[in-house]
Amino acid sequence: MASPPAPRRVCVTGGGGYIASWLVKLLLSRGYAVHATVRDPSDPKNAHLCRLDGAAGNLRLFKADVLDPDALAAAIAGCKGVFHAASPVPSVKVADPESEVLAPAVKGTLNVLQACSANNVQKAVVVSSTSAVHFNPNWPQGKPKDESCWSDRNLCLKNEDWYMAAKTLAEETALEYAEKNGLTVVTVCPCVVLGPLLQPVVNTSSEFLIYIIKGGPTVMNNMLWHIVDVRDVADALLLVYEKAESSGRYLCAPDRVSTKDLLNILKTTHPDYNYVNCDNDSDLKSIVTPITSEKLKNLGWKPRKIEETLFDSVKYYEKAGLLQDVVGCPCRLPHPFHMATDK
Ligand code: NAP
Repeated sequence: MASPPAPRRVCVTGGGGYIASWLVKLLLSRGYAVHATVRDPSDPKNAHLCRLDGAAGNLRLFKADVLDPDALAAAIAGCKGVFHAASPVPSVKVADPESEVLAPAVKGTLNVLQACSANNVQKAVVVSSTSAVHFNPNWPQGKPKDESCWSDRNLCLKNEDWYMAAKTLAEETALEYAEKNGLTVVTVCPCVVLGPLLQPVVNTSSEFLIYIIKGGPTVMNNMLWHIVDVRDVADALLLVYEKAESSGRYLCAPDRVSTKDLLNILKTTHPDYNYVNCDNDSDLKSIVTPITSEKLKNLGWKPRKIEETLFDSVKYYEKAGLLQDVVGCPCRLPHPFHMATDK
């Protein structure tokens, strides 16, 4: 009897993170063999990966910092595809932007792509962000932002928006590398990612929704938010990987909502929380203006509705005890969301 075909083997960098954990789960459920890189395989914060269905036979953890090319090469060897998700998403203002954000994002991406070339990887999918899209003051007013819209990296650097600058520079670097070196690279730019967590450590975008629900000390502007479900981001990453025709950049931002409407949706199903205050008088003026995900939808992406994402998020936070007050830990708005308040 012929032996069954070997599973398709792929690598996911930063495998223990919020988005990557859902991606690893999805890949295992589809029969992929997965090499997940984590910085410390013995850290309990990564233990959830080994409990995923299919992990026993098809998941291997590799210790790798993205600034360590040899460790990346060991993890990527033998893989046909690579999903690069590892990148710092700091929740507080960083002290040393170069070492804490810019280098791991930009040099880290280059290291991953060089390891892909050296190991004959067929396609690399890089997780970028709508942070690499929104900060473009020259975009025509009223025109939805699409894949041709890039954040102005010099403006981000000047404003000390290190995360935005890092994501913009990293994505530019990835696509330039692809062009110059003949590697197939597709980038996906998710907006604010919400939904249930698989990992035990609360990530920055989930902290943002927890802040809104628990009610932080600052009043939030009534601005526009683009929100996507973490499970739909995992679907999008796999979709662009599997579709032979995918190319270039894909914006991944299906739903947009004002702060006021976001609060209304939450209050409809969960009226009893002490939600953050919203400045109803502030208008929706912000650098964040509507963006379109038509390119991804045309590839076959079917994201769920924001109501479901928010409902499942709150359900998860309640079950995990994340909405209880902790003495000595005041609720704070994560730093990348500081544009939500003038304070
Ligand atoms: P996350 O849970 O904080 O995951 C980030 C991952 O990057 C962690 O696994 C972290 O590993 C890893 N990492 C950071 N620095 C590293 C380094 N020097 N070497 C190796 N690994 C490193 O956040 P996430 O939301 O899932 O973010 C994943 C990706 O999605 C990032 O590229 C982020 O920019 C992008 N993204 C996120 C959102 C969002 O709203 N969540 C939106 C758009 C784009 P450790 O656990 O060891 O620190």
